[in-house]
Amino acid sequence: MSLMNHTQFDGQLTVQQQQRLQDLLSFVNQEAEHFLGYPCNRLFDYTPLYPFLSFPMNNIGDPFLPSRYHLNSHEFEREVIDFFAALTHAKPDEVWGYVTNGGTEGNMYGIYLAREIYPEGLVYYSEATHYSVPKILRMVHARNIMIKSTANGEIDYQDLAATLRIHRDVPAIIFANIGTTMTGAVDNLDRIKQILKDNAITHYYIHCDAALGGMILPFVEQAPPFDFNAGIDSMAISGHKMIGSPIPCGIALAKKCHVDRIARAVEYISTFDTTVSGSRNAITPLFLWYVIHSRGVAGFRNIVQGCLEMAAYAVQRFNDCGIPAWRNENSITVVFPKAPEAIMSQWQIAMQGDMGHIVVMPHVTKQQINHLLADIVAATEVTP
Ligand SMILES: *Cc1c(COP(=O)(O)O)cnc(C)c1O
Repeated sequence: MSLMNHTQFDGQLTVQQQQRLQDLLSFVNQEAEHFLGYPCNRLFDYTPLYPFLSFPMNNIGDPFLPSRYHLNSHEFEREVIDFFAALTHAKPDEVWGYVTNGGTEGNMYGIYLAREIYPEGLVYYSEATHYSVPKILRMVHARNIMIKSTANGEIDYQDLAATLRIHRDVPAIIFANIGTTMTGAVDNLDRIKQILKDNAITHYYIHCDAALGGMILPFVEQAPPFDFNAGIDSMAISGHKMIGSPIPCGIALAKKCHVDRIARAVEYISTFDTTVSGSRNAITPLFLWYVIHSRGVAGFRNIVQGCLEMAAYAVQRFNDCGIPAWRNENSITVVFPKAPEAIMSQWQIAMQGDMGHIVVMPHVTKQQINHLLADIVAATEVTP
């Protein structure tokens, strides 16, 4: 069959094709009402930025260097990076970064830098780590060992200590979770650093996967150590999760001294190709810049506090109904035993083993929580 005389591609949108777009829009609109299981905020309004969609904008290259491609938003991207560097307590001019396509790219960037610095290094990451990380480790060919995790999703410090002891002669690359995907668990960086010290491991690198926690912990009282204050080397934060964006995005941050090493390496080909992709999204940095200024730090704090309170409400309501739901400290992820498939599917709830979770994002209401709970109670006939 040749595409040349195929009527489906004759250069005219048929009435049916237009209808299909309408149908998708209705479907998405309807499904958004039951969007409780994934950590993506659906409350945002970027309408004032729509005119930028009319140009082939592209943030190709290092956002901190001049570019021959003028249709870019590098200036705004730099301000976004400066905001997140300050938020994560990087010392001025200590950290470099760029806006990525999401958490995976930020994690890949951190692991890539670590492996460049310690080519023989061993990457330690817990069982509860995001599924994309083992793939990244294969892609960059980094030696690695999976460490057990505890019931709440933190890295098992005993297993980490025992494993590090065996490999004391090898530089350690710690992949720490600041909010795991399934239970929102935060690995304790103080304990991890103590274990490294106890084993006299002086050559190490710490990357933090703060896809979700990176936009929660800066806004809570007495946050555990999670950022550059704790001496970490790089970090990934998500843009489309807590902040919210119709286009996936994220922030990669890394100590400048590490990035300079790889930047120098490519100076040979007379460019500073410091990012993973060549062509890069120029719209998402504008979204992030816009949201940073229109919400402000106080706005983010209110939103995060609201989510934490709503998550506490959800745990309470589940428990009141006899369902053993729980959450980690400072986490908006509410974990509960998985319910019948029809309910989990209707509310788009991700599962792992016998565990399900809802992620109490800014758009999640008491009504939705109660509705879900009523569905579960009715289906499992637990007496309230
Ligand atoms: C979502 C998530 C990722 C992956 O991020 P993407 O934006 O989907 O690439 C990685 N780690 C954690 C902890 C996450 O929650």
